[in-house]
Amino acid sequence: MKAIRRFTVRPVLPEPLRPLSDLARNLRWSWHPETRDLFQAVAPEEWQRCGGDPVRLLGNVSAERLTELAEDRRFLRRLTAAADDLHDYLAGRRWYQTAPQAELPAAIAYFSPEFGITAALPQYSGGLGILAGDHLKAASDLGVPMIGVGLLYRHGYFRQSLSREGWQQEHYPVLDPNELPLELLREGDGTPAQVAIALPAGRRLRSYVWQARVGRVPLLLLDSDVEENAPGERDVTDRLYGGGSEHRLLQEMLLGIGGVRAVRTYCRLTGHPEPEVFHTNEGHAGFLGLERIRELTGAGGLEFDGALETVRAGTVFTTHTPVPAGIDRFDRELVARHFGDDGELPGVDVERVLALGMETYPQGEPNLFNMAVMGLRLAQRANGVSTLHGQVSREMFAGLWPGFDPEEVPIISVTNGVHAPTWVAPEVFRLGARQIGAGRTEDALSVGDSRRWSAVAEIPDAAVWDLRRVLREQLVEEVRRRLRDSWRQRGAGAAELGWIDGALDPDVLTIGFARRVPSYKRLTLMLRDRDRLMDLLLHPERPIQIVVAGKAHPADDSGKRLVQDLVRFADDPRVRHRIVFLPDYGMAMAQKLYPGCDVWLNNPLRPLEACGTSGMKAALNGCLNLSVLDGWWDEWYEPDFGWSIPTADGSAIDEHRRDELEAGALYDLLEARVAPRFYDRDATGIPQRWVEMVRQTLVTLGPKVLAGRMVREYVERLYAPAARAQRVLTPEVAGELARWKARVRAAWPQVTVDHVETGVPTAPANGSAELGATLALRVRVALGDLLPDDVEVQVVSGRVDESDRITDATTIALKPTGGPDLEGRRLYEGPLALDRTGSFGYTVRILPAHPLLTHPADLGLLAVPSESTSEAAGVLMR
Ligand SMILES: *Cc1c(COP(=O)(O)O)cnc(C)c1O
Repeated sequence: MKAIRRFTVRPVLPEPLRPLSDLARNLRWSWHPETRDLFQAVAPEEWQRCGGDPVRLLGNVSAERLTELAEDRRFLRRLTAAADDLHDYLAGRRWYQTAPQAELPAAIAYFSPEFGITAALPQYSGGLGILAGDHLKAASDLGVPMIGVGLLYRHGYFRQSLSREGWQQEHYPVLDPNELPLELLREGDGTPAQVAIALPAGRRLRSYVWQARVGRVPLLLLDSDVEENAPGERDVTDRLYGGGSEHRLLQEMLLGIGGVRAVRTYCRLTGHPEPEVFHTNEGHAGFLGLERIRELTGAGGLEFDGALETVRAGTVFTTHTPVPAGIDRFDRELVARHFGDDGELPGVDVERVLALGMETYPQGEPNLFNMAVMGLRLAQRANGVSTLHGQVSREMFAGLWPGFDPEEVPIISVTNGVHAPTWVAPEVFRLGARQIGAGRTEDALSVGDSRRWSAVAEIPDAAVWDLRRVLREQLVEEVRRRLRDSWRQRGAGAAELGWIDGALDPDVLTIGFARRVPSYKRLTLMLRDRDRLMDLLLHPERPIQIVVAGKAHPADDSGKRLVQDLVRFADDPRVRHRIVFLPDYGMAMAQKLYPGCDVWLNNPLRPLEACGTSGMKAALNGCLNLSVLDGWWDEWYEPDFGWSIPTADGSAIDEHRRDELEAGALYDLLEARVAPRFYDRDATGIPQRWVEMVRQTLVTLGPKVLAGRMVREYVERLYAPAARAQRVLTPEVAGELARWKARVRAAWPQVTVDHVETGVPTAPANGSAELGATLALRVRVALGDLLPDDVEVQVVSGRVDESDRITDATTIALKPTGGPDLEGRRLYEGPLALDRTGSFGYTVRILPAHPLLTHPADLGLLAVPSESTSEAAGVLMR
């Protein structure tokens, strides 16, 4: 019979066990093995059944068992120790508290459409969400006062299984927030706090705010499943990345606008300091800037432009993808309908809103509203997520700063990291603890002290190799279990499944490949030459085995076809003991998979993998990377600890040929380098050179790939400068800056470089000059209504390439020395040193200048000599 209503009956814990409830509610258990061990001891079998989820465990454990534990002195001592440890963790001074306080923001709000904290709170689809989870955890470890903001999806992302034919099936289990590690944010009188946003035609979208505790960091999740909402509105937060464009827009309005309101409510109710910096993880939460403009223009009394300045100063935007499909773009009409007088943010001019998302570059679509473009316009500080991705992003968005070279586009990079306490297997942690002690190992993992990591060098070969074997064996068992479940689900009977006991071999070189399945990640590159792959799998002395996993987006049939191709290959009785596809890739699987593999494979189409983080998690467990030089691997790869798959990017060859070349290179590496090294054993059976690579991976990559390192970089390079900039912009200063910008913009068409001349001693009349000579530059400019203080006139010089582009530019400001003459022109002068041999060139340019501009390209304005001016002046020399 079906129940007509459901309740969650929370257990009443006997008094001595009360601290268990706090331990279960703070997600720190998810990265603290001792707390997990304690929960396991509560009811070992139930713990297995609950998938290691303390809240469910406490909901299911029997009253008798609880009574028993309440009298178990040994258990109670452990419980007290764990509760004290959590208390110290929450209250103690950490890295942030030891830095000079005045410099750092009082709080930072971090917005993301998804958060992967633990499998017990399934609110993520892949790398972006898990990165966000790792960001919050590392912030907590470092004591950074952060508030996370996201949505609570009632069905999370989908669960994946396979049909008999290997076609991806999607399921959307209903999540009951009462059974999740969440608490409802409540007003002082106990009623649930609500935030609401206005929709067209008088509709309202209300939401509750659930709070998860991520160590020291609160994570606020907005949930539109509120009874007073109309049915359509109730479903706004139904699924992560589901639904059509209007649905997505509503989700993003709720996340951005509702999210700021949730933060305000949270701070009001708890006394938490208000954020000085707002960080948006990808463009989806970009509307948060509009809400803050509304706050400042309404009660704040600022004009739109002044409010925009204040908001920009305190906003950080991180872009995560160079793949256009990864960026949200909405119909302008749709956005227009939801803002303005009939929708949300009345009083904020719709045209101004629309202009923020306009693709004002040559290939831009005039009818689309681009969330990444708005992100860049609303944030004064922006970054990509690896050095290479920073460079790719500067090129990709250069059109927003016309006239500037890509190198000058104000997008920096902060390379991603991963939260080691979450991703390091307990066995690896224990080995570290034996070597240098548990406390120091914890420190090394969270803060990233490289001296601690160098202790790995002293671990004996045999200990490293034994550990690798243990981890591989555990993976093999896990794979068999999952494989059996998957085949049962695909309709196989027990009698057909005897082969699974022999699937994978704990002594065979194990390669892992797991990730989402967008086409650029090339799940099936390894299938390019099936015979060759089969030979590698079945090699008589040096076989390899491969574990593959990944979800295709539900709307992506071509991705599902790739999954099916792989599944069908892996179903073949000739190879099914050496290659497996595991359905339902997620954090729980990932935590077993990375440590158990010997090699982590990554073969995206370079440079489309912005960073990639799974290889970092693998590295922290001593798994070696075999990857295309893309994302983080491009930055940190060294032959001492991994392999780079040669690529054919940048060449004019077609996609097919490129795949063929790169797959060929992959097979060659596996056959000639990777497998021989793994199977090259000494007299004691240890592959010494392999173990050396494992050790190098840990010592060299360990301290770099940490989320602790990443968050410290965000604090030092982005949050602290943003907080300082934002403090300077009092309403008066912001208003002044905005008026100055408006004046400069209006005057700019009259700003020109009229004449450039190079004086004695060695005017390059014949186009050549001597090294060491200095030219005297005289430049005549017109500034229209502007004054010399409003601009900087610069000479930019350096080597030039075949197309006369200056490559390694040096910039020097020229000094105003005269004028204005009768035509209003001013003279600027300065020396130009010919300090490089070969093709050398220079140009002159005028930029707006103001002490509060953080970046010379900030306004996107510049004036350079016209063609005729340059020719007359002989700007280029050879
Ligand atoms: C780390 C992780 C990812 C991201 O991996 P990439 O290498 O960035 O593709 C995706 N899913 C899960 C479950 C992860 O743990």
